[in-house]
Amino acid sequence: MNLYRSYKNLQDDLQNGSVKCVEVVNYYLSRIEQNKGLNAFLEVWGDEALQRAEAIDEKIKQGKAGRLAGMVIAIKDNICYKYHKVSAASKILEGFVSLYSATAVERLLAEDAIIIGRTNCDEFAMGSSNENSAYGKVLNPCDNTRVPGGSSGGSAVAVAAGLCMAALGSDTGGSIRQPASFCGVVGIKPSYGRISRYGLIAYASSLDQIGTFTNNIHDCALLLEIMAGKDGYDSTMSQKPVPALSEELPSVNVKKLKVAYLEDCLNREGLDPEIKKGVLNMVQALKDAGHVVEPVSFPFLDYGVPVYYVLTTAEASSNLSRYAGVNFGYRSPAATNIESTYKKSRSEGFGTEVKRRIMTGTFVLSAGYYDAYYAKGQKVRRLFLDKTNAILEKYDLILSPTTPGTAFKFGQNDLDPVKMYLEDIFTVQAPITGLPAISLPLGRHSNGLPFGIQLMGRKYDELTLLAFSKYLMEDMK
Ligand code: GLN
Repeated sequence: MNLYRSYKNLQDDLQNGSVKCVEVVNYYLSRIEQNKGLNAFLEVWGDEALQRAEAIDEKIKQGKAGRLAGMVIAIKDNICYKYHKVSAASKILEGFVSLYSATAVERLLAEDAIIIGRTNCDEFAMGSSNENSAYGKVLNPCDNTRVPGGSSGGSAVAVAAGLCMAALGSDTGGSIRQPASFCGVVGIKPSYGRISRYGLIAYASSLDQIGTFTNNIHDCALLLEIMAGKDGYDSTMSQKPVPALSEELPSVNVKKLKVAYLEDCLNREGLDPEIKKGVLNMVQALKDAGHVVEPVSFPFLDYGVPVYYVLTTAEASSNLSRYAGVNFGYRSPAATNIESTYKKSRSEGFGTEVKRRIMTGTFVLSAGYYDAYYAKGQKVRRLFLDKTNAILEKYDLILSPTTPGTAFKFGQNDLDPVKMYLEDIFTVQAPITGLPAISLPLGRHSNGLPFGIQLMGRKYDELTLLAFSKYLMEDMK
C-alpha cells in the first residue's frame, strides 16, 4: 500500500474495493513502529483499531459506512476518549482513564473514523517546543535535531511523518498552527465556540479550541464540519448552523476576496528575513493575480504575548486546582494529611513550566493585583478584538507569517522562557479574539525547513478561510 495524502483518494479506493481498512490500519501501525524514535505517540491502540477496521470493512461492503470510514486519526493526549488513558503529558494524570469521550471524538467515531492512538504534547498544552512533556521530547521529522513545535507537537509529527491521515490538536495560543508551520502540514484553529470543548482537558477555557492537522484543505474542511456545531455539554458553543464546508468550498468566489497583511508583523524585529520575503512574495503573487491585497497596521502586536500570559495563566491557575491528589490522578505517597496531600501531590506531579504558570496566574488574580493585571488584560483583549474586527470589516482575510522563524534546535530557548513565549507573537491574536486561523505549509527556507503562512478570518466564517486556503495551496502554487 502507498501512503494516501488525501482522504478522497483513500475513500475511492475503499469504495471500489482495491484497499481495505484493515490494510490501511496495518500500514499505519507499521509506519508508527518504524518511526518510534520520533516519540510522537504516547500510546497506540493497535488491536482495537484493527477490530474497528474489520467492522468498518463490513459496513463498506453493505453500503452503510460513515463519511470518515477508514480515516485513521490520532488524538492529542489532552482529548478524552472513553475507557482510554489520557494524561495531558503530565505525571499528575499518569494512568488516568477517561470515563467519557470528548464530543469531537464522539462525532468522528459516529462517522466511522478509526482512532489509532494518543499523541505526545507539552504538559497541559503549555509550551512551544514539546520539550515540556513528562514523557520525553518529540523529534521533528524534517530534522531530528530540531523541535516539532508545541504544544501539539506529537499530532503535527504524526501527520507530517505519515503515521496517520489526520490528527486532532488543541490551540490556545498557537499550539496547532506553530507545530504545523514547523513540520510542514495544514493546521487550523477554528473560531472559538465552533467545536465543543467537552472532553478537552482545560488549560485556558476562554481561548482553548480543538482543531486539526491534515495534509490538505479538503480533509480539514470535512473533519471540521463533522466535529463542529452546537453541543449541550459546552455552553460557550455557537448555535449557528455549520455549513457543509467540504462541499461548499467551490461556491466561494475567491477572486473577489480582499486580503490585508499586517505590516507590523513583517517589520517586527526577530522575523527571519526569508520568511518575510516569503510573505511578501505571496502578496505580490496575489496582486499579480488581480487580488486586492493591502498593508494594514495593527499597533497592538507587542501586547499580544503579555496579554496572553496574563489571561491564560489566570485561567490555568483556576482550572488546574482540581489536580489536588484527592479525586483523581497522582497522590504523593509521602502525604500524611489533607494539606500535605495537596502540596506534595502538586509539587511532585506537575512539571516546571506548569508550576510557573500556576504561580503567575495566582499572582495576577490576587486581591491586590487583580485590577493591575487581570482586569487590564481583559481590557486589552477587548482592544484587540475591536481593532481586528475593524480590519475584517474592510477585508475578508488577514495574512501574516505563522511563526517568526523555522523549527529551532532542542534546548535553544531553555534558559529564557520569555524568548520561548515570543514564538507565539503572530499566533496569539486569533485565540485572544476568538477568530479562526490556519497555517498553510507554503514556505520553504534555504535551511531546508518548512514554514507556514497564516490566514485569519471572520468569526464563524471558516468557509471563506478554507476556500481561500485551498486556492493558495492548489491554484496559486
Ligand atoms: N505556545 C503557547 C504556550 O506556551 C501556546 C500553547 C497552546 O496553544 N496551547 O502557551
